[in-house]
Amino acid sequence: MGNFPSKTEKSCSTGNLSFRQMTTDSKSIAILGGGIAGLSLAYFIGEDCEILEKSTQCGGLCRSFQKDGLTYDLGGHVVFSGDKEILNLDLELLRGNIEKHVRKNAIWYKKKLVKYPFENDLAALDKEDLFDCLWSFLNNPQRTQRNFEDWMYNQFGRGITERYLLPYNQKIWKLSPRSMACDWVERIPKPPAEDVLKSAVGIATEGNLEQLNFFYPAAGGFQALPEAIEKSVRSKITRGFNVQRVRKRHEKWIVSGHSGDHEYNELISTIPLPYLLSILDDAPANVASAARALKHNSLIVVMLGVREPNSSGQFGVYFPQDDLLFHRVCFYNFFGQQNEAGASPVVAEITANEGDSTWSKSDEQIIEQVIQGLGKEGFIKRSDVLTTELRRVKQAYVVYDLARSKNLRIVNEYLDSIGLHRCGRFAEFKYINSDAVMRSAKNLASKLGFG
Ligand SMILES: Cc1cc2nc3c(=O)[nH]c(=O)nc-3n(C[C@H](O)[C@H](O)[C@H](O)COP(=O)(O)OP(=O)(O)OC[C@H]3O[C@@H](n4cnc5c(N)ncnc54)[C@H](O)[C@@H]3O)c2cc1C
Repeated sequence: MGNFPSKTEKSCSTGNLSFRQMTTDSKSIAILGGGIAGLSLAYFIGEDCEILEKSTQCGGLCRSFQKDGLTYDLGGHVVFSGDKEILNLDLELLRGNIEKHVRKNAIWYKKKLVKYPFENDLAALDKEDLFDCLWSFLNNPQRTQRNFEDWMYNQFGRGITERYLLPYNQKIWKLSPRSMACDWVERIPKPPAEDVLKSAVGIATEGNLEQLNFFYPAAGGFQALPEAIEKSVRSKITRGFNVQRVRKRHEKWIVSGHSGDHEYNELISTIPLPYLLSILDDAPANVASAARALKHNSLIVVMLGVREPNSSGQFGVYFPQDDLLFHRVCFYNFFGQQNEAGASPVVAEITANEGDSTWSKSDEQIIEQVIQGLGKEGFIKRSDVLTTELRRVKQAYVVYDLARSKNLRIVNEYLDSIGLHRCGRFAEFKYINSDAVMRSAKNLASKLGFG
């Protein structure tokens, strides 16, 4: 990949391009989007690329926000990974600003905290619940596995599934697990029978060991990670560039935003796949329609600054109850965060679909419902809430409906055939965390001949 001298020229090609200024950029690779995927790509590729980011700040979903002396993330983000190389890179990038923690997460069930994962703390349940969970785990007639619901019953049995997994997943995905595929479930830890038995008689065990220890920046929130990568990036970052059109002409990629057209040799998209297809010239109708059919969930994040929340030392608490708006709440006093007024961040996550009855509520209504819900369950007192904030994230979770893999294959085959590379959570349309996104960026950079 050679460097191209910067030059400005008049384009005489057809369509909207006629007589508009075209910048042949000095960078030969365009990276659309400056979240952790875009930043990592630039980090691994080196100097020969340019990030085009629509926001005035990079970081995407990994960004954090400051209000009244408190730092909030867009939902509970922590640093962990089974990928040793990427984890070590994260720790190296964050050196001097990273602390190690032991997981303390729980499920709120019948007004009790049951240690996460649920099946590793059955002894915390009432005797009848405990018996039913254990009995149905041990006597578990296997179903034909057609969907995510079947998978849960097969792995965990009726008791655990119906008490926690089914309602929680229904709540977070806003889709019946019966309408969801199973090609993502390796994320969910499968319990060894021995652990479940031990947990039932009260012998402490830990499930999901990959997340048992995790890290969190000492200052700056999770955004410290993308910021650290950004500092090490030698490439050009153009912020405030909303990519509005993409096309391939004579083996060059032309990327258009409000500031005109930019030309590159290679193109890597980290922006959401359905949007990419909607701005890509010449995409066949069946490909565009497959991209439109890909489903995602949105997220509403309510951030409260609360004096002495009653979190019982937990960081994340999961709420399967359908009369509570939020499915997970993270308590940042776990990390010792507190402002001068003695408040610490409490962050509630609420999934929704744009335009549904939850999304349509006003910010004030949602904040009020969160305060009410957390108050009713005894986690906070209304009089201790000193500050509030709400953010809406349109693309937060990839939803694995039953048609996803077919639709994704159609889109991927087309984009591969025209040489348009993708990397990242919504660009690859996979339920992946920042570590897997960074791994994907490293692999792609090396495929393109870097590193
Ligand atoms: C609630 C929640 C909790 C999570 N917890 C964790 C965790 O504990 N640990 C972890 O590692 N990961 C976690 N993740 C996952 C992590 O946030 C994502 O995997 C990661 O941030 C995805 O990065 P990305 O760069 O692929 O996408 P994004 O972060 O979505 O970045 C895409 C970028 O593209 C830009 N963009 C979009 N459209 C355009 C356009 N038209 N023109 C130019 N730029 C554009 C956006 O502004 C954005 O900056 C969590 C995610 C959520 C939602």
